[in-house]
Amino acid sequence: MTDQTWPSWLPIRSSLSHLSPYGAPQVESDAALNTNENPFPLSAAIAEAISHRISEVATTLNRYPDRDALSLRTGLAEYINEMSSTDFTAGQIWVANGSNEIIQSLFLACGDQGAIGFLPSYSMHPLIAKVTSTKWCDGTRESDFSLNIESVLTQIKANPSGLTFITTPNNPTGEAITLADIERIAQHVCGLLVVDEAYAEFSDEKSAVTLIAQYPQIVVIRTMSKAFSFAGARVGYLVAHPRVIDAMMLVRLPYHLSTLTQSAALVALDFKRELLSGVAQLIAERKRVTEALVAMDLKVLPSQANFLLFTGFTHSSAELWQSMLDRGILIRDVGLSGYLRTTIGTFAENQKFLHALEECLVKERS
Ligand SMILES: *Cc1c(COP(=O)(O)O)cnc(C)c1O
Repeated sequence: MTDQTWPSWLPIRSSLSHLSPYGAPQVESDAALNTNENPFPLSAAIAEAISHRISEVATTLNRYPDRDALSLRTGLAEYINEMSSTDFTAGQIWVANGSNEIIQSLFLACGDQGAIGFLPSYSMHPLIAKVTSTKWCDGTRESDFSLNIESVLTQIKANPSGLTFITTPNNPTGEAITLADIERIAQHVCGLLVVDEAYAEFSDEKSAVTLIAQYPQIVVIRTMSKAFSFAGARVGYLVAHPRVIDAMMLVRLPYHLSTLTQSAALVALDFKRELLSGVAQLIAERKRVTEALVAMDLKVLPSQANFLLFTGFTHSSAELWQSMLDRGILIRDVGLSGYLRTTIGTFAENQKFLHALEECLVKERS
């Protein structure tokens, strides 16, 4: 798609004409370990409760949804308060169709002074910046992909931006930074510090939501797509100062979050204990898979998330990725030469992954 030329009758924006659409391949596989989804399906009881709630609201679908999603925002505030011992109310929460929409709203509302992030990190941050015509600055990490805070502060100073993005745990590398480091960065940004915590529930680090009362410039993005096993429902949210939420309301599309989504998400929150019960299991599997990869003489980056980035194979990333897919295992080539990323799946999926990888490595090393 990259070198496609657009037809002359299509007035595509010049800033977009050379882009390709976001595309993790959606192909058939025995184990889909490429998009950091939660491998555990919803239980019959939760599915039943969601169906029941949806059938209750179905007769009201002639009406627009609650434009401000107040019940859902209240439920999300309660969840965050329970996890982080905070006292947020609905006025400090915004919710949208996935955290990607939250990110888009942040750019739309606050992108005038550009944005900076430290690569490699979540590829959608620079991509959504581009789509919203926000100037983006590629910040850098150390050669081992860790984040050097002194270097971050220097880069922020050299490239003053309205939005500074920190992803912790970082995707695709898995490493989390400390709350003390977030606080230091917050003290030096010139606009908002956007902390993308899509994987917070898998991490030992305290959430940056605990800093918001002291630092209104900190905004924290969360999602129900990963720990909550709810990626298909598309629910992401923001925890921030009420004035940031006011800014989100300026750019949101009217009635952006459907009655169906709001209802389903409220049920998911009712069942949060059960939905989150897989997290501990995935953390245990993360440890087990890490040890198995190390035993294969691979190097694994320390991860606080539900995925691992590994290196130490001799084939190119693209070659090993294809060999794995030929064996039915779909992992992720994140565009880092010599590295591949795998999502932690169920025990059975991880066994399939390890077995296929072992086969590929034996082949390349023989
Ligand atoms: C998966 C992921 C998201 C989630 O996006 P949703 O739109 O909520 O599904 C956000 N940020 C990062 C860093 C991610 O890896």
